[in-house]
Amino acid sequence: MNQALDNLRKVIDNGLCTRCGSCVGLSEGKIQFTDKTGKYLPLIRQKPDNELAEKLWESCSGKKVDFPALEQFVFNDQGNYHQYLGTYRGLYIGFSRDNIIRRKAGSAGIITTTLIWLLNKGLIKGAVVLGMSETEPWMNKPYIATTPDEIINAAQSKYTISSVNELLPEIKNFKGDLAYVGLPCQVHSIRKMQAAGFPEVKNIKYIIAPFCGLNLHFSSVISFLKAHGEKNYREIKNIQYRHGEWPGNMRVEMKSGKIFQLPKFHANYLIPFHMIKRCIYCIDASNEFTDISVGDAWAPVYEKRGEGFSFVIVRSEKGEKIAQQMVRDGEIDLQPIDIQQAIKMHSHMYDNKKRGAFIRMKRARFAPYYNVSFPENISFNRKLFETALNLINTILRMKVVIRIFELLPPRTIGIVFDRFKVFWKKLTYNVKRNKL
Ligand SMILES: Cc1cc2nc3c(=O)[nH]c(=O)nc-3n(C[C@H](O)[C@H](O)[C@H](O)COP(=O)(O)OP(=O)(O)OC[C@H]3O[C@@H](n4cnc5c(N)ncnc54)[C@H](O)[C@@H]3O)c2cc1C
Repeated sequence: MNQALDNLRKVIDNGLCTRCGSCVGLSEGKIQFTDKTGKYLPLIRQKPDNELAEKLWESCSGKKVDFPALEQFVFNDQGNYHQYLGTYRGLYIGFSRDNIIRRKAGSAGIITTTLIWLLNKGLIKGAVVLGMSETEPWMNKPYIATTPDEIINAAQSKYTISSVNELLPEIKNFKGDLAYVGLPCQVHSIRKMQAAGFPEVKNIKYIIAPFCGLNLHFSSVISFLKAHGEKNYREIKNIQYRHGEWPGNMRVEMKSGKIFQLPKFHANYLIPFHMIKRCIYCIDASNEFTDISVGDAWAPVYEKRGEGFSFVIVRSEKGEKIAQQMVRDGEIDLQPIDIQQAIKMHSHMYDNKKRGAFIRMKRARFAPYYNVSFPENISFNRKLFETALNLINTILRMKVVIRIFELLPPRTIGIVFDRFKVFWKKLTYNVKRNKL
């Protein structure tokens, strides 16, 4: 048995596959995703030879992502470092100065505006982005955008599995430099391949990408429809996860003309039922190996205003040059914030990724390896809290429980979930904020 192939199989069989798509993209058709609306797992259809198997294993972001080694490779000890944020040169609240993009985007259009600016300046010839499929409008689809319109069409967050790195053959054959947008697990794989000198990723010159708390299975969309009394996701004409004024709505338009919509914070009720198991072991909230990474500016002062605000982390020297020039060109607005404000804005996510994930990994039979030591600031109560959370999540993921929730009116569940979240945050405030 080939050891690399064996490792890959273990990742798939033990729930560690991130679905980044790299093994599929590199495999010359030997590995394929089978059921993208179901478990969305890679299936090894034809055994790769030893050399290819080694390559596939090297690219895999499921098990081994050596954070200190990638830190060194990407940033070469340049910039500031914080254990929660990774390497950074600047922390900002920002938004695109193009109001149409700002409104159409996930939070404030920083990623879309940056990609268009790079294209217009001739610094790239294309951008790897994730749009929606034209033929199957319920599914997302990665592509290389070569015009501003194609970049704008990919704006907005898609909260279901996206195997962007399936596009590796197109990326390899693309004539010219590229910017790349992907989730942290997808970026981990890209950086691993760049560090190993893979020709498939040599075109990628900039990584401008979103934060990620977690992602969901497609079953979340199916469940959302069922709760609204619709059975067939193939009748979807258009789906947007952040439609309208920030923070936006999950909005599904059916071919029949019916529209189902819930505010983002209410649609978040789908999270505990449909989140991907691998995400509970991820320790990278803010896409630490990018040039610039962008999340939502979750703070009452911005949430009250609507409009769209992002928390922007400028990380690399390249990223800093781009950001500064874009501000001078009047493309984006960036206001510096200090590290305490930055952590406070995402304290829930940092606690979850930088403490919760470590507790979960320690308790798991088969866990990822990040070459990062177990944090010292985890109290006994925090560990106890993790046990309770695990129990709640296990119950909520049971098929029968999911089915019961599908029978309840989604608007009511959304409101109850949102209120419960506020109560839960208050209840767990001390345990989660302690020593953060
Ligand atoms: C699954 C997911 C989870 C997230 N979780 C959090 C969170 O917990 N906290 C937080 O602050 N922010 C989170 N974000 C980031 C946030 O939703 C916005 O994407 C981010 O603020 C960038 O906003 P923007 O307006 O600049 O992006 P836009 O200008 O709208 O551009 C978004 C870009 O992201 C790409 N993209 C969208 N969805 C995906 C995807 N699923 N996979 C790969 N690429 C994609 C598109 O190609 C597009 O180019 C998450 C995003 C995603 C996709």
